[in-house]
Amino acid sequence: MPYFVVHEHHARQLHFDFRLERDGVLKSWAIPKGPSMNPNDKRLAIMVEDHDLEYGSFEGVIPEGEYGAGEVYIWDSGEYETVKGSIEEGQWEFRLKGQKLKGKFVLIKTKAKPDQWLLIKKKDEYADYNFVLKTRA
Ligand code: MN
Repeated sequence: MPYFVVHEHHARQLHFDFRLERDGVLKSWAIPKGPSMNPNDKRLAIMVEDHDLEYGSFEGVIPEGEYGAGEVYIWDSGEYETVKGSIEEGQWEFRLKGQKLKGKFVLIKTKAKPDQWLLIKKKDEYADYNFVLKTRA
């Protein structure tokens, strides 16, 4: 089964990089506020460049002067499976099996900007309406 990883990235601005293995790469979205288990939250997710699969296990410090300089932690990871849709369709629903992120989510492409998506938790037994994101660092 393919896997996903969420990097907590302490760059100039803290954000979370949500990455899903597909077609031999990690499709990646930068989420300023991070993912949420609350179905009422619509989290802006900016599609960014694909990353190599090996990068999924990266934790460490991106040196000063390099793009994205700062500390990177794995905030969550696990396997996932597609429920329906795809990136190409602009609507991709999947089930995450992480430590923090569990159950069904959907990524929906907005019409605002080409790279602008929303990550939304679907209502299921894992939904948490009091979810508060805790950073690792
Ligand atoms: Mn990043």
